[in-house]
Order: sequence, then structure tokens, then C-alpha cells
Amino acid sequence: FKARWWSLNKVKTVCSYCGTGCQLTLGVKDDKVLTTVYDENQGFHNGQLCTRGRFGYQFVNSDKRLTTPLVKKNGKFEEATWDEALGLVKQKFIDAKNAGGSSVAGLVTPRLTNEELYLLKKLFNQGLGSDNLDHSAGYAHAALTAGAVESVGYPASPASISDIQATNLLLVVKSDAYETHPVLGFEINLGVKRKGVNLRIVSDKKGKISRLPNALTYLHSPGSEVALFNSLAKVIIEEGLLDSSASTLPGFAELNSKLAAYTPAVVAEQCGMKAEEIVSLAREYAAAEKALIMLPIGLGYPGHGKALAQATLNLALLTGKVGKEGCGVLIMGEKNNSQGAADLKVHPVAGGLDAAGIIDGCTSGAIKTLYVVGENPVVSYPNRKKVETALDAVEFLVVQDLFLTETASKADVVLPACSFAEKDGTFTSVGRAVQRINKAISPVGVARSDFEILGLLYAAVGGEIPPGISEAFEEIGTVVPSYANIDFHQLGEEGTIYPVNNKCRLIPVDATAVKSSSTGTYALVTGNALNHCGTLSLYGEGPMYVCAEGYIELNNADANKLGVKDGESLTVKSQLGDIKLKAKIGMRLPSGVVFAPYHFSDKSINSITDGESVTWVSLSK
Ligand code: SF4
Repeated sequence: FKARWWSLNKVKTVCSYCGTGCQLTLGVKDDKVLTTVYDENQGFHNGQLCTRGRFGYQFVNSDKRLTTPLVKKNGKFEEATWDEALGLVKQKFIDAKNAGGSSVAGLVTPRLTNEELYLLKKLFNQGLGSDNLDHSAGYAHAALTAGAVESVGYPASPASISDIQATNLLLVVKSDAYETHPVLGFEINLGVKRKGVNLRIVSDKKGKISRLPNALTYLHSPGSEVALFNSLAKVIIEEGLLDSSASTLPGFAELNSKLAAYTPAVVAEQCGMKAEEIVSLAREYAAAEKALIMLPIGLGYPGHGKALAQATLNLALLTGKVGKEGCGVLIMGEKNNSQGAADLKVHPVAGGLDAAGIIDGCTSGAIKTLYVVGENPVVSYPNRKKVETALDAVEFLVVQDLFLTETASKADVVLPACSFAEKDGTFTSVGRAVQRINKAISPVGVARSDFEILGLLYAAVGGEIPPGISEAFEEIGTVVPSYANIDFHQLGEEGTIYPVNNKCRLIPVDATAVKSSSTGTYALVTGNALNHCGTLSLYGEGPMYVCAEGYIELNNADANKLGVKDGESLTVKSQLGDIKLKAKIGMRLPSGVVFAPYHFSDKSINSITDGESVTWVSLSK
């Protein structure tokens, strides 16, 4: 960038990529974000940022930003005024409301602020009379937090980020925090190297954290996590390694009888580990004075998120490792405000349609108006063809976004929204930290904040809108008890971790069998590529420099069998179709398991995934 650092206006805010919630300082000049400024006194992470936070901000001033509303006429977009574009949307919303509300649905990104999500929920539930509202985190994070509600009484982690360094044993389930939540990867690194934290990883691939000193990685078959945690719990009960009060917890007898089938010998066969490894991991976890489980999961886990959260919480509760420093289960939201979306219950309540149901409803004609806010379902949801068919079929599609995404290009009306750098509000990150974001620049073109657009639409259907952001936050406190005692104006730079009251219960859960297939022999798992997060990072120079296209990652032995070399093209085929991707060969994955990032729109892996925890594929040169 071409400016002296001292000539920059510095605005403190919060990164808008992943759920870690790192604080950052934007360097602004001439109403443009020119850089992020390193400030070692900022945040729990002492100013450290990953590539996304440090070099991924260019999407804010990208020349691909939408700067004006668009309306499709005769199959082509034409620039429109806000009055014209909003007028069309308002009329559809009024029609839908008058028809009872069930024909309108919303898909929203958990990247919006809490105040925007709150207004959107009000627009749907109270303004339109519709419960058909969901967000992409609904495919994974919402399932985990729904599990937490039944196990501990609230939809969030019974742990916070500071517990990573305060624990004795860290049990990381699936994935690599260095890739999904890199600054939490640094925290793990510091815990292991400076505080002597023992690191144990159970995963279907080896990541960078597996290389930390004395880390032990247990590779298991994708989709077998619940069985594994049930078996760990069985060993703990059988060997009497329980906390003294565990047998008095509600659900103990039911859990105990459910676990009868999960002997280490049986589960070892199912998950590809040795029975002795399961026993030794259970003993080690129970013996640790403090132990923290981390669940850093993204879109790759639609199938069994709720059961997985409950199985891990069962383990923590049985050993008395909830509600104490250095203990608990840390659920790591993929997006910057996944936790806020869970707190605000931005997902269907009883009777409403979830994201998958909304997609089906568009195809069947049950949903006539679909409002997509900041989401790109064509690329980020499983089964791309099915999603595209649904979006082509729905009568009226309105998309509110920063960019003309693959989803927006199918819309009847496109509304240009503001990025995090153009607005005020709050995000809630991993470990229940509520933090303020601050406006650094003016909206690009005539873009408006989601808060403003949602307010105008809510008013059009007779809703009473809060006059401003702080008033909206205050209202949130009246419906989300954990936010009730937080004063927006007192949040300051540090933010606050909202308190919780644990109402613990053991929940017996079944492990669902991983579906096998005759069409493929490799288990495909999807997730984040290094330094990417959702589809927003495709507009950031740093993330694209590190990884610019999709790939298929496979084990050395499998590559030798196929006769494929690193960088060569492979055809990846599932029962839904095939795509060609470059091979990335290494030792991170067990034989028989392949991995592909889901962000990239041209060779989109979601064109061949089906929404199950594992998609079976075949590979050929
Ligand atoms: Fe942003 Fe997440 Fe990276 Fe922190 S770890 S800088 S929140 S992307």
C-alpha cells in the first residue's frame, strides 16, 4: 500500500472471517482500507493475525463489489434505484405475509452482526409470519450448539479461548486449527510449547498441529467420531474413572445402558483404531486434572453434529470436566458470528423449514419468494445441481450481498450490502465473546448496511424497528437472557464473555453407520483449505496467494496405486457426477480417505457431494 503508517486513520474492530474473533486495527486513508496495522497490545492474541486477517481485507475495496441495486429485466440485470429494487421486494413480502407467510423463506450468512441477525429474525418470525429461516452454519455449527442446549442448557461452548492455555490435556477432534482457526492454532502452539499442555488429536487427517512436540494423533475413519467418543465414555465408566458426582447426573443410567454396545474391540474395528488406543486415550483423558475438548468443525459435518457434541459433552461431564478453568468443550464456529446466530436462534423453530427443506421447497413450489442474505448456496451447500435447480425454480429470488456471486447472478433483484468495515455492531465469537465492530469507511457506492435494508423491509410489513444499533442490542437482551446484562456502550475494546449457568444432563446418543456405496472406494471429506474461510476469502489477495484453486488431497500410497503424481489431474466421481481436480499428495490422510476444500466455484466439490458426512468417490487419471 502507498501511504505512511502515521498518515493512516486507525480504526479498531474485529476480523470478519472465522469464529476466533481476533481484534484488528484497520489502516484507513481517503475512505479506503489500505492495510491492517499490527498492534501487540490488542486482543487475547497480542495483535497476531493469520493470513486472512492480515492480508485478506482487500475484498472491502475490491472493484468487484456491488455498488448499486440491480433488477433483472428480460433475463438481464439493469441498474436500479433503491426505491425501485426495494419496492419489488416489499411487494413480494406483503403478498407472502397476506398469504400466511409459509411461502417465503430466508437463507442468511452468520457473518452479519448480532443486531442485523436479530432484525432479520424479527422480519421473518413477526413481520412475515414465517419460520422458514436458516443459515449455512445450520449445516454444522447449529447442530453442535443444539447438542449443547440439551447437555448443558445453552447453545454455546462450556469453555472459552483462555482455557486452551490453562488446561493440562487438549483433545482436538477432527481438523487442524491452524487451517480452520489459525490464531487458535497459535494458542495451541503456545499451550504445548510454553505450558506443557499434552496434545491429543482424533481426526481423519493429520494436520500441522500433529507436528507439535509430543502430539499424538489417532487417525480414524471419517464419520466414526460418535462411536469413538461413546467407547471412551464406556471405558471411563467400566474402569471407575468417573467423577464422584457423575452417577447422580440425570441420564446416567440411560447412557450406561446405551454404551453397552460400544466396547473398544467393536468400535476399534468400526473406526480403524486399535482397541488399546481407545482404552489408553480414555484413561489419559480421565486422569488429567484439567482437559479441554476442541470441536473445530466446518461444513463437512452435516450428518451427526448434534450427536457428536453430546458424545463429547458426556465424556466431559462423566469426568467432572465442565464449569472449571481449563476444562469443557470448545465449539469453534466456522464464521465470525456463527455463535451469535446460535444465540439468536437464527434457524427454523418447530414447523419451519431448515436450509435443506428450503432448497426442496423452492423446487417443489412451496417456497415462492426466497431472500438470500450474504450466502452463496450454489457454491457452499452440498449438491450444487440440486441447489441450482431450486434457485432457478423459485418464483422470486432476492439476494443481498457484497458481490455478484453465483447465487446472486440467478436473482430477480440484487441489493448491495456493506462489509464489516462499513458498519457498527457486535459479533459473538468462539467461547461466547461479545465484541464490538466499528465503522471505518463509508459504504461503497450506494450500498447500504444489512441493518438499514432489513429495517426498511421490516417497516414495510408493519414492524417497529429499533432506532439504532445500540437499541437493537438492548432489545436482544430482552429475548436472549445471556445478553441481558451486557451494556453495548460499556463493551469497550476488550468485549465481554457472557456468563452461563450449566444445567447438565447426560444424553445417550447413537452413532449412525457411515453409508457405504458401490460407486466409490474413497471416503471424501470436505472443509477449509489453508487460509480460506467460506467464499469471502476468494476476494482476498493473501488467501488466494496461498491457495488459488480447488484440489483433491490423497495419501502417498493411494497416489502410487493410481500412478498419479502431485499436481496431475484426477477425475473424482461420485453418484452425482464427476469433476477434474489437481492431485495434492502427502501423508496427512489415511489410505482410503481424500479431502477437498469446498470454497472454489469453478471446480466446485459440492457439485458431487450429497450432504452426508461422507461422500464415496472413485478416482481415476
Ligand atoms: Fe481472522 Fe480467524 Fe484469522 Fe483471527 S484466526 S485473523 S478471526 S481469520
